[in-house]
Amino acid sequence: MKKAKVFFILGTRPEAIKLAPLVLAFLQKEEFEVRLINTGQHREMSTAFLRNFGLTPHHDLRVMVERQSLHYLTSRIMEELERVFLEERPEFVFVQGDTTTALCGALSAFYFRVPLGHVEAGLRTWEKWRPFPEEMNRVLISRLADFHFAPTVLAKQNLLREGVAESQIFLAGNTIVDALFLILNDHRPISHPVLREELEQEDGSCRFVTVTAHRRENWGEGIRNIAFGVKMIAEACPDLKIFFSLHPNPSVRETVLRELAGISRVVLLDHLEYPDFVKLLSRSLLVITDSGGVQEEAASLRIPVLITRESTERPEVVESGLGTLVGCRTEKIVEGALTVLGAKTPLRQKSYLFGDGKASWRILHFVSRFFGFSHEDVQEFQPLS
Ligand code: UDP
Repeated sequence: MKKAKVFFILGTRPEAIKLAPLVLAFLQKEEFEVRLINTGQHREMSTAFLRNFGLTPHHDLRVMVERQSLHYLTSRIMEELERVFLEERPEFVFVQGDTTTALCGALSAFYFRVPLGHVEAGLRTWEKWRPFPEEMNRVLISRLADFHFAPTVLAKQNLLREGVAESQIFLAGNTIVDALFLILNDHRPISHPVLREELEQEDGSCRFVTVTAHRRENWGEGIRNIAFGVKMIAEACPDLKIFFSLHPNPSVRETVLRELAGISRVVLLDHLEYPDFVKLLSRSLLVITDSGGVQEEAASLRIPVLITRESTERPEVVESGLGTLVGCRTEKIVEGALTVLGAKTPLRQKSYLFGDGKASWRILHFVSRFFGFSHEDVQEFQPLS
């Protein structure tokens, strides 16, 4: 039997985490020949995160150059992808989310007239510049995609509102929940030495908070204000330990280190491998983040989140009551944190807002039907809050 060759194109940490469970699902079906293409938009990070799932890319395009412009990055990825498409001739292409890699993958699939599946389709802030360039990347990918795998009801509605035919949209849930559940069931020891020591020392007398920050629009003053907020929260609550996972971006690191190095009970960690990060997150009472993926994970674990952004393409987190938009205003961050930490009963239990851990399986069945490998009907994801 002739196998169908399927490309998974990725280049950053969230793409690696969100595509890994889908790649694992496709690898189990012998009808498909899987090709994993890492553009290396975030060099090392994406490969390291694939390794967390036992995956190695078939093609590593190594496009990352320090402080390169979006023009240069786009042209490098397009050139390299053309070479790989010519060499491999895929029959189906997956891209995920809203990165420059995803946009270039989508455009390449279009130029080669290959059907394109967009994973996590339909997220919108409806603001052209926020986040930049991701919002426009998503919009453009939606114009190019043949199949839109929406994570939530709202994302599906957004696509319908833009005129995408309902038959091309499939509500699958978000594959991040598949990744999260896979890793929660993985009992490898913590690999980061500082985190390992901190978590092993824990005797129940400390409450944990996790912080991440990386969005381009928050670089500089925004990140500085988040850091001030973290310092004030640590001073106000002597039983807290605040873990700040430092994004490797030099601008983010420099700002955080300048403001928070040496502050008591604030632990600065070089960015963590996914299993370590999930262990930390699942023990935290509060998360402060501008990351999309971290919001989805926190909501899935029912951990309150302060979202350090002005607008969100994931209003589900706010509507569920788990998330609060605080922007990068120090006083709002401190007030939000003290409210959550002062609440009597911390929330816990998983919620099915973004997925039930079966999104990859649904997408696999959908694409199997497209190729005529299966005739089984697959039900869409039913969110529960
Ligand atoms: N993450 C991680 N280690 C860290 C910080 C984050 O593994 O130290 C993971 C996190 O669990 C989530 C993903 O990185 O799945 C989010 O990536 P990022 O914040 O870079 O991108 P976004 O989700 O905002 O697109």
